[in-house]
Amino acid sequence: MTYVVTENCIKCKYQDCVEVCPVDAFYEGENFLVINPDECIDCGVCEPECPAEAIFPDSDPKSADWANLNREYAGQWPNITKKGDAPADADEWKGKPGKAALLSSNPAKR
Ligand code: SF4
Ligand code: SF4
Repeated sequence: MTYVVTENCIKCKYQDCVEVCPVDAFYEGENFLVINPDECIDCGVCEPECPAEAIFPDSDPKSADWANLNREYAGQWPNITKKGDAPADADEWKGKPGKAALLSSNPAKR
């Protein structure tokens, strides 16, 4: 079992989740975060912290299309442990449907 970041995070990336994760399992892309399934201890603490309601357990059908993507990018993107600034237009993208096509495969710019 693991928790999975899904579509609602795209272009929101508020990062509240990274502050509460006890094992620092989050990895940062340009406009999305992912969870490393090999590091996640399935505590569930991050799920209610996400203002965009983007995090679900992998047993939830909403995670189905996103679990493999979390694993793939967790191996490519840098680890994130501290909350940074959310995108300036994050609130405008919150809850918008159809964001999957906007997912950037690029790692976060540091
Ligand atoms: S709190 Fe939610 S929207 Fe923000 S970065 Fe984490 S998963 Fe993405
Ligand atoms: S479920 Fe727990 S261990 Fe897994 S990513 Fe969320 S806070 Fe971290």
